[in-house]
Amino acid sequence: MLKVTKVGYHGIILPELGIGLDYSGTKAEHIFISHAHADHVPRNKKLSVYATPPTAKFMKLRGFGGEVKPLEFKQPLETDRAKITFYPAGHILGSAMTFVESDLGNLLYTGDYRTPPAPATEGFELPDAEIDTFITEATFSLPIYKWKPEEVLANQIRNFAARNLEQSFTPIFTAYNLGKAQELMYILKELNHPMQIHGAGFKLCSVYEDFGFPLGDYETYQRENCEGKILITPGSALGNGFASNVKKKRIAYCSGWAANESRQTQLTVDELIPLSDHLDFFELIDLCKKLHPKKVLITHTPNPKVVQHYLEELGINSGFLDLEAGDYE
Ligand SMILES: [Zn+2]
Repeated sequence: MLKVTKVGYHGIILPELGIGLDYSGTKAEHIFISHAHADHVPRNKKLSVYATPPTAKFMKLRGFGGEVKPLEFKQPLETDRAKITFYPAGHILGSAMTFVESDLGNLLYTGDYRTPPAPATEGFELPDAEIDTFITEATFSLPIYKWKPEEVLANQIRNFAARNLEQSFTPIFTAYNLGKAQELMYILKELNHPMQIHGAGFKLCSVYEDFGFPLGDYETYQRENCEGKILITPGSALGNGFASNVKKKRIAYCSGWAANESRQTQLTVDELIPLSDHLDFFELIDLCKKLHPKKVLITHTPNPKVVQHYLEELGINSGFLDLEAGDYE
């Protein structure tokens, strides 16, 4: 089994192979970045890293100053000690799981992922191999998180927009600038109604178009003529005057956290849409059952013990990669 060391909130190194995964330090010769969300991209902006071509573009657009060497899905890279292959993770465009094979064993690192995959992604695909070590995120790590089918959510999204436009309300969807915003646009484009997206998200949309995911009729948010358009913005911008000039508007909060109904009382929104770019609790357990790896290492979760309990019932050995965890072998 490969030795695994957690470094920082997301960074992982495989010291025997000189490999870093979403890692930002200098103790790895080869660094692989799973996707372009800020918490996975190196803070050290001078590093040289590998990423898929869409992730490379997103990183550059978001100000990464180092070198990003593009590595295509399922095109293995060989180093002196390992073979590394990216597999589609279904989380956002370009998101990759990293499969590392070596004489010391193999390891699959998920980064963030979703299965079934989000529609505006390259899909979700597993390596055709028995897995020794499976490092998985577990963002939604409680059995209260069970997603509705994609088509049900897509209908809820389109209905919210159509219904409110009909009643002369401007529909506003809150979503992160990278991934969720474009997934909404991809779903909403069927309405053939003009959309405006927050500037920070707008600049990332061309990457979706370039890689074959048309997002419909959209432009960057313009305060003076946003009324009557479908608007998409991170929730934080709503407190900073986004569309504050529009009197008749309704807001939909789009996040996996919306599945937890106590959120309704915490947020002043009109509709909760539990659209997530992560897999739900049951999908996570099912995947572990299917893979049945020698060891599951859980990361990025508030509730590792619940996941571990379910895995134990399935006879799957597991551990929690927390900040203090140090080394695993
Ligand atoms: Zn992510």
